[in-house]
This record gives sequence, C-alpha cells and structure tokens, in this order.
Amino acid sequence: MDLDLVLEKELAELKRQGLFREMKRLEGMQGPTVVIDGKETILLSSNNYLGLASHSEIIKAQIQAVEEFGAGSCASRLISGNTTLCENLEKKIADFKGTESAILFPTGYMANLGAISALAGERDLIVCDKLNHASIIDGARLSGATLRTYPHKNLGRLEDVLKKTVCKRRIIITDGIFSMDGDITPLPEIVMIAEKYDAILMLDDAHATGILGKSGRGTCEHFGIHKGVDIQMGTLSKALANLGGFIAGSTTLIDYIRNKARSFIYSTALPPAIVNGCIKAIEIVERDAGLRERLWSNVKKFRSALQRLDFNIMDSETQIIPVCMEDASLTIKASEFLLKNGVFAPGIRPPTVPKAKCRIRTSLMAIHTDEHIDKAIEAFRRLRNEGFFYNRN
Ligand code: PMP
Repeated sequence: MDLDLVLEKELAELKRQGLFREMKRLEGMQGPTVVIDGKETILLSSNNYLGLASHSEIIKAQIQAVEEFGAGSCASRLISGNTTLCENLEKKIADFKGTESAILFPTGYMANLGAISALAGERDLIVCDKLNHASIIDGARLSGATLRTYPHKNLGRLEDVLKKTVCKRRIIITDGIFSMDGDITPLPEIVMIAEKYDAILMLDDAHATGILGKSGRGTCEHFGIHKGVDIQMGTLSKALANLGGFIAGSTTLIDYIRNKARSFIYSTALPPAIVNGCIKAIEIVERDAGLRERLWSNVKKFRSALQRLDFNIMDSETQIIPVCMEDASLTIKASEFLLKNGVFAPGIRPPTVPKAKCRIRTSLMAIHTDEHIDKAIEAFRRLRNEGFFYNRN
C-alpha cells in the first residue's frame, strides 16, 4: 500500500474543509509579546496566564536544579527517578490544594489518562460535562467504563443519568474552568449531586490552578468548598508555566494511583529543572496576589471591549475569552487578519470545538500592559469593520 498516497487524500480533505492544522513558529522568550516571522506580536493565546514563563526567580530555580541534579531523571519514579525535589513538589501541591497528598505525572494529559483509567473499570460509570477536556474523555474510554455525557452545565441531565444507571462505581468529572469557553463549572451544586447519588467527584482544575480563589488555589477555593471533591487534578503547564500534571487527594487515593496508574508507573519522572521551577512558581502564586489582580483587571477591560464591539464571547467569565466565528474557514481568515494586525490568537476548529462553534480563543495574561490590551482591542475593532463578525446571540 502507498501509505503517503492514502494519507495525502485525507489531508487534502482536511484542507478542503478548512480543518488542516499548521503551527506558527515563535522566536525568543515567551512574554506578553512574541516574535513571529521576525515581527513582534501581542501574544493573546498562551496559557501562561500569570506571565511566570519569563519570571526571573523561576528561571534561576531551574538553572540551579540543573547544576545540582543534572539534566534528566532517567527512570520512572518507581525505579530510580524519584528525588527529594519530586517529593517536595508533591508536598507543596498538597498543601496548596488543601489535600493530604498529591502525585506528579509527566503531563496533565497523562494525569487524567492514568487516574481515570486506574479508578474506573468495565462495570463502572463515568459521567462527564459535554465540554470536558479530551484527556478526560480519553481516560474514560481507556478505562472501559460506560461513558455518558450531559449537556454543558445541565445538572438536571446529570441527575437523570445518575438516576437511571446502576453501576458499581459512579464518577462525575468536570473541568473547573472550561478550556475553550472560559466559563466556570457550578461546583457547589455538583458536590451536592455527588453526595445525593453516592458518586465520586473529580475536578480538572487545569485552567483554574493559580487563577481562581483569593490565593489562586482553584475552583474549590473560589466557591469556598472544603470537602466533597474526591479527586483534584491540575496541570503545571498553564498558570504555573511549566510542564507536568498532578492528582491531589487523600493519602489512600494517592497510594492507589501510585500503584495502579499506568501513565505514572511506565513513564519517566519529570526532570529536576522543571520540578524546581514549579516549586518556585507555587511559592510566587501564593505570595503575589497582585499578579491575579492585574490579570483580572486585563480580563475585565478586554472582555467589555469585545462586548462593546458586539462580538459573541459566549458565557466567558475568566481569562479565557472565546470569540465565536461562523465557520472554520472564516475563523482561519480572522486569525490571519489578527496576525497581520499584530495579534497572535489562533482559530479553534473541530474536533476541538463543534463545527458551528469555531472560534478565536483569546487568553489574557497578567503581564499584558494597558498598551498591549489597547492594541489588541484595536485589532479586533478592525476585524469587525472588515466584516469578520458573527454574533449568534
Ligand atoms: N485538562 C484540561 C482542562 C486542559 O485544558 C489540558 C491542556 N490543554 C489538560 C488537561 C492537559 O494538560 P497538559 O497540557 O499539561 O497535558
């Protein structure tokens, strides 16, 4: 079989539908702006929400760890990849999240995959918000459990699913901040439903860690919830500006995951530099509430400008602000137009979002200055005047 020929046909079809994916090449340090094709551009699409990727204390901590511990960890944690640094970071995460214990994974994707497939099996039920991240869906599929979804934030439908199914173990899973829509899960109500139906509750706090709550501890802190969430998942790759994922919860849960999660057991431990950088990042998140204040002030300013321009920003209430476009091709054209006007914000298309909800996903950072935000607003104003505009409200 001529493999290339077969693949080329599929790729041509993707191109025809406006769904072919390509990457932009960023040069230099990631700050509020980046250099793309030799041109300085406002970065409006990074998960570096607090701007910590270029924080001098974190960079110093990472260099220090390389010099002291070397480049890589060169084995899985259970073989010889475990270090005092890993254990210190796990302790730091548990304290930060207010849980007994925590465990690191090489990525957030692997944390979801490993934890969910370890905790659920064929006779179990996993119930997900329709907009949960792909790694949750993949973990659920891998587990062999029955996977059911409920329409986004529709808790009546969540209850219906729980009422109708009798399974050995039932696990409700929700994102804290939804990654493409930027709205927040109704966690207090879901905690009550989990209690009522004796279900386990797992929260993916990838985008809320470092962001929501007075001290940036996430969605539980935002709602003042101290118990009822059994499994708190998070990433080190977004506000903490590095790489890796974690699960936080009871000591028993973490012991279980350490013994059963295959993506933990069979994968190499995070390198020392990353681990030390994350310890420093959490320290900064805890002590510098000013970072969050600046982020929220930027969010407010940018969000109201987009609303004044009459863009459809869906139900966004956080640093992630989608701008809805009509279809995939228009979304790509809009993104190219923005880039020409000095703003980097790629288009999001299926399968990441439904066909009818293609969008430019913008995300704000604490390190954007007023000038950056004003320039970004001006680029969107021009976009609107060009007719790249679709308001489905
Ligand atoms: N969960 C959510 C909600 C996410 O948005 C992401 C990443 N986009 C992940 C999990 C996976 O995290 P990571 O990128 O650290 O693998």
